[in-house]
Amino acid sequence: MELKRLRLGRNEERRLRAGHCWVYSNEVDNNVTPLKSFAAGELALVEASNGKALGIAYVNPHSLICARLFGQGADRLDSDLLARRFRQALALRERLFDVPYYRLVFGESDLLPGLVVDRFGEHFVVQLNTAGMDAARDAIVDALIKVFKPASIVLRNDSSMRALENLPVEVVVAHGNPPDHVELIENGVKFLAPLHDGQKTGWFYDQRPNRAWLKKYVAGKRALDVFSYIGGFGVQAAAFGAAEAWCVDRSSAALDLVVKSAALNGIEDRVRCVEGDAFDVLKNLKDAGEKFDVIIVDPPAFIKRKKDVAEGINAYRRINEAAMRLLDADGFLLSGSCSMHLQREELIDILRAASRHLDKHLQIVEEGMQGPDHPVHSAIPETRYIKAFMSRIYTP
Ligand code: SAH
Repeated sequence: MELKRLRLGRNEERRLRAGHCWVYSNEVDNNVTPLKSFAAGELALVEASNGKALGIAYVNPHSLICARLFGQGADRLDSDLLARRFRQALALRERLFDVPYYRLVFGESDLLPGLVVDRFGEHFVVQLNTAGMDAARDAIVDALIKVFKPASIVLRNDSSMRALENLPVEVVVAHGNPPDHVELIENGVKFLAPLHDGQKTGWFYDQRPNRAWLKKYVAGKRALDVFSYIGGFGVQAAAFGAAEAWCVDRSSAALDLVVKSAALNGIEDRVRCVEGDAFDVLKNLKDAGEKFDVIIVDPPAFIKRKKDVAEGINAYRRINEAAMRLLDADGFLLSGSCSMHLQREELIDILRAASRHLDKHLQIVEEGMQGPDHPVHSAIPETRYIKAFMSRIYTP
């Protein structure tokens, strides 16, 4: 079927030619191809102002990013194309990991903009974050069944991105009978993750390599995992030999799973949970005179939108400084940020300023990013988002 055309304004094709896949609504030539004439999720042939074809995209006239390119020529978001891309995505993950627990599809980086698929063995959790991917829902489910014969597929369509796309916020079982919780293995450690009601897809595979750092630092030590969620860092710290690992989160459901995951690994006697607001808990621990050797601070995105930058930087600064106050001499701080709007240099400066405020020095010992199942697309800087630093905080 012939597709409608979406014509860009003069010189607006540069980003796409460089390999990016987003079109912003102000880049469209609305006189030639009015955005308003497109339905949300409709496919279009995107062309430069001189009429040259640039690729096939899906369109959402209601969104600031009004089109995302996913292919060329005869490509359509059908189950054949999706199955092909899934196999390509799988080939990378099978090189990286010897167990089937990973992010299988990382949106734009896997040339499937707006689509996230996390794999937990034979259970799959999907996020359809755009109208274009939402319109392809049946083909996506079909293709997953064709390639993986999964036991279950859950659509976690409750991300904040969906609101921006004017899509309903919902959690839907698309295939099979998913259990409430599913087992996964990361860095050799077992976990239970929620399939229906956890954070995002239920588990954050993106911090895997940065969690593995802990092996070198925690043996026989006291570790504190702030914003632990279900214990990604804390339970691994205990599994890697920490004498004690404390997990702090305000969600009792998350901490219940910390306890269950610790038991799965036979280390429940070395894992402790503290429920409460992280800022309050850190202050209470300080007042109680507690000290730790290794502290992990991996908060939720404090900066969700550009306009939150100043407030967010302040929150990162306060929580990291509070953590530093709890460190023993020569302690280590693992500090992460998943805010796309916080630059690496800004996080370094936050850590530097906090350490100087306490009259200490901070050495960056390791620097990390998101794990390799979240590859960075070389033309799409937005696909790089995790920052992580392991630092030694010391007094000369
Ligand atoms: N570090 C985790 C991911 C953190 S997700 C990992 O490696 O998997 C963010 C977590 O912070 C959620 O579990 C949420 O319940 C918790 N949270 C958000 N704000 C909080 C606050 N003010 N105090 C304590 N926990 C908070």
